[in-house]
Amino acid sequence: MEQEDRVRCQVCGKQKRLAEVVPAAVVREALVRQMRDGRTEWDENGYICAEDLALARASYVEQLVTDEGGELGDLEQEVVASISEGDLIAEDTNETFEQQLSFGERLSDQIAAFGGSWRFISIFGAIIIVWIVANSLLSRFFDPYPFILLNLVLSCVAAMQAPIIMMSQNRQEDKDRLRASHDYQVNLKAELEIRQIQEKLDHLMNQQWQRLASIQEVQVDMLNELVRGGGRDSEG
Ligand SMILES: [Zn+2]
Repeated sequence: MEQEDRVRCQVCGKQKRLAEVVPAAVVREALVRQMRDGRTEWDENGYICAEDLALARASYVEQLVTDEGGELGDLEQEVVASISEGDLIAEDTNETFEQQLSFGERLSDQIAAFGGSWRFISIFGAIIIVWIVANSLLSRFFDPYPFILLNLVLSCVAAMQAPIIMMSQNRQEDKDRLRASHDYQVNLKAELEIRQIQEKLDHLMNQQWQRLASIQEVQVDMLNELVRGGGRDSEG
């Protein structure tokens, strides 16, 4: 039991205790490929020490992220930071967007919303009808037929409404862009977190293997004792 089994780590070549290594067979394919890179000899049934495995994992994840987009952009860096700090990235984009709107922008949104409603159409239609009827029935009213002042008012309303609607549309686009980049961040984070969970599962598997290995050591010792005991019995 006391003779500690020392095995050689395939990556750094150092002799390690059995508790400090994991068998190459339980390490994920991609990580093995990462560590095999540039190595001629590789034993499928060999061992890898825990430090080398951690190093390989880190460089593997980094490579995954950089492979996707070439370089880490601002969005990806935010995601990586939020993963390392463990905080949430999901947020209400609508709320964030509303908060950074100025008074003018908010006003134009409200005007555009009102201008695009049935309420506006009915109120405006009613005003026009009242205007026309009043000016037709009461002769010498302020805007007699052909209602030139009404024409002017309508043109002004149309002229003001168009830029207000365009402003509001631009803002809608900004909002969509914000939402899209935010969705991308959330997706990227989910993907990376899932990968981390996979790594953790691998780690759990390794731990179980180590427990099994130590149990097996005990069993081998017990077997040895049994064999020795049996030999003595047949001799005596
Ligand atoms: Zn090693």
